Amino acid sequence: MTEKQITTKKLGFDTAALHAGQHPDPHNGARAVPLFQTSSYVFESTEKAAALFRMQEPGYIYSRNGNPTNAVLEERLAELEGGIGGFAVSSGQAAISVALLTLAKAGDEIITTNALYGGTYNLFSETFKGFGVTVRFVDGRNLEEVEQTVNDRTKAIFTESIGNPNAEIADLHSLSAIAKRNRLPLVVDNTFTTPYLQKPIDFGADIVVFSTTKFIGGHGTSIGGAIVDAGTFDWTNERFPDFNRDKPSIGNTSFTKLAGNRAFIAKARFELGHDLGTSLSPFNSWLFIQGLETLSFRMKQHVHNAKETAAFLRQHPAVEWVNYPDSKDDPQYELAQAYLPKGASSIFTFGIKGGRKAAEEFIDSLSLISHLANVGDSKTLAIHPASTTHARMTEEQQLQAGVYPDQIRLSIGLEDIDDILADLDQALQAN
Ligand SMILES: *Cc1c(COP(=O)(O)O)cnc(C)c1O
Repeated sequence: MTEKQITTKKLGFDTAALHAGQHPDPHNGARAVPLFQTSSYVFESTEKAAALFRMQEPGYIYSRNGNPTNAVLEERLAELEGGIGGFAVSSGQAAISVALLTLAKAGDEIITTNALYGGTYNLFSETFKGFGVTVRFVDGRNLEEVEQTVNDRTKAIFTESIGNPNAEIADLHSLSAIAKRNRLPLVVDNTFTTPYLQKPIDFGADIVVFSTTKFIGGHGTSIGGAIVDAGTFDWTNERFPDFNRDKPSIGNTSFTKLAGNRAFIAKARFELGHDLGTSLSPFNSWLFIQGLETLSFRMKQHVHNAKETAAFLRQHPAVEWVNYPDSKDDPQYELAQAYLPKGASSIFTFGIKGGRKAAEEFIDSLSLISHLANVGDSKTLAIHPASTTHARMTEEQQLQAGVYPDQIRLSIGLEDIDDILADLDQALQAN
């Protein structure tokens, strides 16, 4: 099997972002991570091949299961998040699907908070439902409601570290306490924060998922995702019989016996990853590795520009409200201090005077800032969630998810702040 132990000793964040999971190429000394754009790997002998297939030895068989370039990304992300292993997949949606469906089968349940990325909301409310997996939506702030929703069929609690689109900061300590009391894993989507701003594992998360499409890649070039396993959850727990069942596909043993505390990430890779084919292209992986190298530097500048933008919008006469938790009178200020002391990322919303019509006019008047459905790019982006990313919801569902008619979502990039503010100002004056 290709699950490798992380050999790097504990490194500083920026050092790990540059080095974790890689040594200079032993064959020709290449310093940069080589791009192994290969589908398959030559076996040394029939005996070796058989051992690989029985998962008795680490190594590569076929890039659907594992690839050396992807392995660097996986180890690097695991190191940065404080986990024991990772699995890189084809998108953020694939990461969420593979992680949760490794835990839950038809008849099982997952609890999620309401404030979700639009794609995840759809995945849970439509696709998972079609698979027979019931996702129960709760108010992540109402801890009693979260705990009361747990039952014998529950397999996980899922939350985003900063909920989309309204920057709802998850109270990870409290959610983790509920998960632990009920012997459930806490799964956190850390796309908006990245391990630079927050490591959910430090607050009790058992599994972290991402869309690497966003800040990790950072340059808006590629779709990808990843799962990181904290290695902390006890899978011998009776809630997870499938982890403890002997299976012919892995040499008549169980994932807990085969992989110990790496059982989850091994199962994700060798069952759903292998069977559904969620593999990440090594080329995209290679681009994400380039992005990771400068993650902290970019995140610092994203946060800096976001703070300046929020301050500018707060005093603008055409702006009704600003939802960025860096000011003392913001209702999330204390949560932000506790969970995001380095900053609350650069994705936030504001309300424009004049409602939906004014919001649409504002978007159409932007010039430097791009109107598109992405976040976490180096370039500043804007969108009107009610008519786009969250348009598949009814108006009532939108309000429950914190999507309002006058609301604009910004993802502040790395341009000179004066240019960002000038474009916002001229578009606000267009009304
Ligand atoms: C973008 C995003 C996803 C989905 O990721 P893709 O790479 O687009 O599949 C999931 N969660 C969050 C919070 C996101 O921003």
